[in-house]
Amino acid sequence: MFKALVLNEKDGKVTSAIEDLPDDRLPEGDVLVRVHNSTLNYKDGLVLNGLGRLVKTYPHVGGVDFAGTVLESSHKDWKAGDQVILTGWRVGEIHWGGYAEKARVKGEWLVPLPAGLSTERAMAIGTAGFTAMLCVMALEEHGVKPDQGDVLVTGAAGGVGSVAIAVLASLGYRVVASTGRAETHDYLKDLGAAEIIDRATISTPSGKPLDSEKWAAAVDSVGGSTLAAILPQMKYKGAVAACGLAGGTKLETTVIPFILRGVALLGVDSVACPIFRRKIAWARLTKDLPMAKLDAMIERATLEDLPRLGKAILEGQIKGRVVVDLGV
Ligand code: NAP
Repeated sequence: MFKALVLNEKDGKVTSAIEDLPDDRLPEGDVLVRVHNSTLNYKDGLVLNGLGRLVKTYPHVGGVDFAGTVLESSHKDWKAGDQVILTGWRVGEIHWGGYAEKARVKGEWLVPLPAGLSTERAMAIGTAGFTAMLCVMALEEHGVKPDQGDVLVTGAAGGVGSVAIAVLASLGYRVVASTGRAETHDYLKDLGAAEIIDRATISTPSGKPLDSEKWAAAVDSVGGSTLAAILPQMKYKGAVAACGLAGGTKLETTVIPFILRGVALLGVDSVACPIFRRKIAWARLTKDLPMAKLDAMIERATLEDLPRLGKAILEGQIKGRVVVDLGV
């Protein structure tokens, strides 16, 4: 038996309840994991509230990521006792996820928990932090270097934003954090932001195809009109790693920043990211993300807290990273 937060749907309304389920209710897969920690990402908020048409069938167990210990495995790469991380692969959307004491998944979706990282810290990073690292890697691969100028991080006090700031600052970049929440300024400075701007200053495009050059690079988890506003502000050969839609999906812009300034728009996906790149990103996180800063981002929670927190994240009210404790 195992405990899970089970979502049900009736007349288009999604409700949740904690239930004790037998192991044979778990979906198919070749690795059974005892989940120790999960987390809360923006997408989890959508699933918990029945939004985004992400879940196809109910009853459903959400949680797009988890970290835990292998209980049983018929997959060649894993054996009982191995500590593992899962993010993405549409787990928590079309496959039952981490909001349960046990999960059964495909072995090919898992990566090993890096040495020295606890399952709690792995989930403090979670999909949001992993995606932040993929954004940093995309900028580095484009050739962005700390001496080229300021790096803008949008949605700064959220999960992707918080980890992006901490990693970029520790790598020597001058980070400008954009937030809509004045009460997070001290938190963002502690993470390493050199300057903070009000997100209202970049939430609407100027209307001009090019503005004065401000940013050598940007990590954008907001999208929509914010992304449209920052593209004309990019420096010559600047790059935006675009990973999110917290502010909207529609992008209305012109080709001018691309063809006159050589600006690059780098799309970042974490869900289907290949395993070799996942391993690189997790290794980089253990090296380039200061653990004291990660610990300062953590809000601890249990399954009982998730319905409330799932609403809060959609309202942009979660600061940093929620870690869900599922016991040992
Ligand atoms: P989060 O913790 O809720 O952070 C999002 C932040 O965006 C909020 O904290 C808020 O920051 C800002 N924000 C919220 N609503 C906004 C609005 N209407 N206009 C402008 N800014 C707004 O969520 P997250 O887990 O970090 O995820 C952030 C985004 O990245 C989501 O869209 C998520 O779907 C996406 N994502 C994508 C991938 C991928 O694989 N591509 C992976 C993970 C996440 P401030 O309060 O500081 O302004």
